[in-house]
Amino acid sequence: MKTINIIKNSKIYVGESLENVHNYIKNKNIVVITDENIKKYYELPFEKIITLKPGEKTKKLKTIEEIAKKLIEYEVDRSSFLLGIGGGVVSDITGFVGSIYMRGLKYGFVSTTLLSQVDASIGGKNGVNFYKYKNILGTINQPEFVLSDLKMLKTLSDKEYRNGLSEVIKYGLILDKELLNFIEKNIEKLLMRDEKTLEYIVHTCSFLKSKIVNEDEKENGIRKILNFGHTFGHAIERIKNIKHGEAISVGMMRALQLSKKLNFISDNDIKRIEKLLKIFKLPTEINISTKELMILIKKDKKRSNDYIDFILLKKIGEYKIQKLKFKELEEL
Ligand code: NAD
Ligand code: ZN
Repeated sequence: MKTINIIKNSKIYVGESLENVHNYIKNKNIVVITDENIKKYYELPFEKIITLKPGEKTKKLKTIEEIAKKLIEYEVDRSSFLLGIGGGVVSDITGFVGSIYMRGLKYGFVSTTLLSQVDASIGGKNGVNFYKYKNILGTINQPEFVLSDLKMLKTLSDKEYRNGLSEVIKYGLILDKELLNFIEKNIEKLLMRDEKTLEYIVHTCSFLKSKIVNEDEKENGIRKILNFGHTFGHAIERIKNIKHGEAISVGMMRALQLSKKLNFISDNDIKRIEKLLKIFKLPTEINISTKELMILIKKDKKRSNDYIDFILLKKIGEYKIQKLKFKELEEL
């Protein structure tokens, strides 16, 4: 079974397989961008394949240059199609090249990690890291399609799988208490990566993200709520060598503690969330004080203002955007 979500003219097919991807591309000249791990596990039925080294370090301008050279070799013009097969690193790079090569080509993704199926492949943001900053060069441009192949999640390492579960829990917390209930009721199946269970999870998360992006593609407002747990999380990621999802797990716990201090969320709800994160072996604390993190957050992003839009939780499934002055935050 496959289900569909739509962002502008871009369709997201949850439960569609890599082997059917040809049905979605009419162009004759197709170039695939993927990484070595995908190549190791899967037969890719294409002739022109650019294989990247896996990992975040590949997300840099040099890679974009190398790909551009290959595209010239492969006689890519505006009638060609770029297909990214992989996780968030591959889709961020494919989307960026696809947006700037000859001022824009058609491109699409087969999304192969849980994190990318529920987050990175959806919403049109792409780009690379530059200088000290993550994702600082990029565009917002929607792919022609995203195929989320749930079977491919079977070969993902446990660590990468948990990394995605952290973002799944985030959607439940800010937007959908039913999703959180579902996760709690289906822990065993989720750990087994049961396809039916994953179909509901991936479909629900991609539906929630599509809805937000349709309302606010350029992140001038509501799209910011997807950053729940990320303000602290990004600061943690910069000083600790842990995975994004792990940092976000700690970041969500810190945001919950802040919500409690401001009299929003109950102790019981916080305990419930902590328990769930721990079941998935996601960290809930780390040895950095919130004060230290605040200093980093303040320094980050060359902020000119002295306040921050913080995403808090009123209760499970209900977010609250709160403008907080740094001074206030440091005192909390
Ligand atoms: P990733 O692409 O690095 O994939 C994680 C690892 O899993 C890699 O080693 C990869 O080779 C491997 N892998 C991928 N699919 C596999 C499969 N089916 N079986 C076995 N191994 C597989 O990372 P990710 O977690 O998918 O994405 C993280 C990236 O996404 C970050 O760069 C982040 O900035 C970006 N991101 C972008 C957005 C956005 O809106 N554009 C949102 C969130 C994250
Ligand atoms: Zn994230």
